[in-house]
Amino acid sequence: MWPLLIAPDQARLQGAGKSVAVLTSGGDAQGMNAALRAVVRTAISCSAQAYAVSEGFQGLIDGAIEPMPWDGVSGILDRGGTVIGTFRSKDFLTRAGRLEAAFNLVSRGIDRLVVVGGDGSLTGLDVFAGEWPGLLEELERAGRLTARQRSDHPRLVFAGLVGSIDNDLVGADMTIGADSALHRIQDALDCVSSTAASHQRAFVVEVMGRDCGYLAVMAALCGGGDWLLIPEHPPAEGWQDEMCQRLRQGRQAGRKDSIVILAEGATDRQGRPITAAQVRQAIEDGLDEEARVTILGHVQRGGTPSAYDRWASTWLGYSAASHVLTCDDGPGPVFGFRGHQVVAVPLVEAVAATRRVPKLVAAGDYAGAVASRGADFATAWRIFNHISDPDAAQSAAALDDQAPAGRRRIGVMHAGGLAPGMNTAAKTVVRLGLAAGFEMVGVEDGFAGLAAGAVKPLTWKDVDGWSQEGGAVLGTRRWAPGVADLYAIGRAVEEGGLDALIVIGGWTAYQGVALMERERERYPSLRIPMVCLPATIDNNLPATQMAVGADTALNVIVDAIDKIRSSASASQRCFVAETMGRDCGFLALMGGLAGGAEQIYLNETGVTLDQIQADLAWLTHSFDHQNRSFFLAVRNEQANVNFTTEVLSHLIDEAAQGRYDTRTMRLGHIQQGGSPTPADRVLATQLSERALRTVVDQLADHSTACHCVGSDADGVQVTELAQAMRQIDPDHQRPAQQWWLGLGDLVGMVNRRS
Ligand code: ADP
Repeated sequence: MWPLLIAPDQARLQGAGKSVAVLTSGGDAQGMNAALRAVVRTAISCSAQAYAVSEGFQGLIDGAIEPMPWDGVSGILDRGGTVIGTFRSKDFLTRAGRLEAAFNLVSRGIDRLVVVGGDGSLTGLDVFAGEWPGLLEELERAGRLTARQRSDHPRLVFAGLVGSIDNDLVGADMTIGADSALHRIQDALDCVSSTAASHQRAFVVEVMGRDCGYLAVMAALCGGGDWLLIPEHPPAEGWQDEMCQRLRQGRQAGRKDSIVILAEGATDRQGRPITAAQVRQAIEDGLDEEARVTILGHVQRGGTPSAYDRWASTWLGYSAASHVLTCDDGPGPVFGFRGHQVVAVPLVEAVAATRRVPKLVAAGDYAGAVASRGADFATAWRIFNHISDPDAAQSAAALDDQAPAGRRRIGVMHAGGLAPGMNTAAKTVVRLGLAAGFEMVGVEDGFAGLAAGAVKPLTWKDVDGWSQEGGAVLGTRRWAPGVADLYAIGRAVEEGGLDALIVIGGWTAYQGVALMERERERYPSLRIPMVCLPATIDNNLPATQMAVGADTALNVIVDAIDKIRSSASASQRCFVAETMGRDCGFLALMGGLAGGAEQIYLNETGVTLDQIQADLAWLTHSFDHQNRSFFLAVRNEQANVNFTTEVLSHLIDEAAQGRYDTRTMRLGHIQQGGSPTPADRVLATQLSERALRTVVDQLADHSTACHCVGSDADGVQVTELAQAMRQIDPDHQRPAQQWWLGLGDLVGMVNRRS
């Protein structure tokens, strides 16, 4: 199991007698509330005193520092912005302001501080901590603090969390709020794309991000842009002509809409800002048609936080609070995510590296600027340039028409249950494959379709618009082949002329390809490179932290939980919500963590009668003595054969004795539906590119080994399938080690008051 940075048991032991303050500063971001809630509740669960500071650093100076109880942060997980306010404090830029801040903290016995803000706020935090001993000395000299107060608080113990929709901190893959901002952008782009397609019209869409092009690059990747302008890579002189040429060729290649995505900080190579009006004018001059401008503005900061911004910010808040409670010295860290793993990076270095990016751009080192934004950013930039390349598009379109003999054929298919993002992956594989000169063929209806020879060529136009669509246009089935089916499959591969196969799907995909690899001695036509691409809402596959579709399902679950909560707001009610996942508890645990569930029942950890009795005793105590009016348990569909969702709800109801009523909610197949989220589209695109690259390299090397692609803290990875299959627990059809399982401890720290 991947460890939490600091084990809850260790943190719990060290909180007594300590005080932790938390503030939010700089621009607001969705997910700040989840982080605030986690800091406060972790501190309380560790027997420490939690304080909240209103209006950022200004609140420290004005003494707006109040004890924050457990209930003070109730009901805020689903709210955008920050309930304690944020501020850009001019006073804190002065030593005199920081002197007051230090006085107000120490006079309340506080020397532990968590700041959620952008790089400006984190710099302010670092300056403050560096000055702390000098500030206290000055306060003692002035007679405002006693020698004892000064010696009791020799240093400021701090941790930073990056709250910024811009995702601009070098060293971390994601900042708090960036995923929710992408949700807002993607929704807008999907709308723009449908109106643009109806009218065959060009749109310029400006997105936020200050000096960072992250939102623009990811939006272009998942919303489908033709041309992209970002601060890290200013376009060369004459970009207007090149842009118009690309839009024209995109239309010729079959695109109905033309969308230019402009990051608000984009400049030309002389450092002059490029405005949306200039881009529109360039399109109107070059294409002789009207273009429309949409500036998304503050919409991107608003709205309810995404599932990711809830569970990730909760984990970050826990990490920051447990750090300040357990570590008394050493440089202050910033906690962020790399892949789906919390990492601590030194604050000063992270901020310095972030501030170097504009300097790289000014010095003309654009490749360096792109690379310093991290692997995800650089890969997305490369893929975008590849799939929007007009030459590739045009040659592919031409090849579609002529279909010359002798081109190598790569098959694309799905297998297993439906996962949102399957279409995005299939589209990316097809377009990248066509652009690289391969003939791309789609296999319909999974392995059953393959056995029946249901194989058809796919053109550039065929896959247009697939990115946005849920479902799987090629069809998918949970049917895995047995040895007896391999003869038919072998013949179909041969007759279909498949030189390689990419199988996008879940457990069935991995099982089917692994069987085909094992039996290839007997069926020589199966000796072709095959790659599995993980796509299942269950997230139960080996060699990847996330499968395509799981993020969309989590968002569906969190959305349903929000509705359950609001439906119960006028009554005393307990809910048992059931999630999918078969024997894998990912959706139940992460959905429950993000949705604020007090109890989660998993197959991995088991369910016992003793545990249920303890839960019921806690529940009735909480209704009687903790002012509780709502309780939510999330149960994985196969948590336990006897303690079904109904049985649990009956037991909870039996304990009610008039305190509350009880309801059940089976979330069912809505979890598999809907348009894929930005994170799923981005993941699908990145994995597809890697899957295709893997088979292309293998075809060049005449290698036929089978692989799977996946994503971990180091980015996108390729693993030999046989090796990946050794990492599984076959009886439960899930990986033997699951990175998220330890997060169950956080439910007890932040969702459930002891
Ligand atoms: P963000 O945190 O979103 O980057 P800002 O750059 O506006 O936003 O910084 C927020 C606040 O952090 C500032 O208003 C100021 O109070 C504080 N701050 C920023 N830089 C410093 C600094 N060098 N010294 C002290 N305080 C700073």
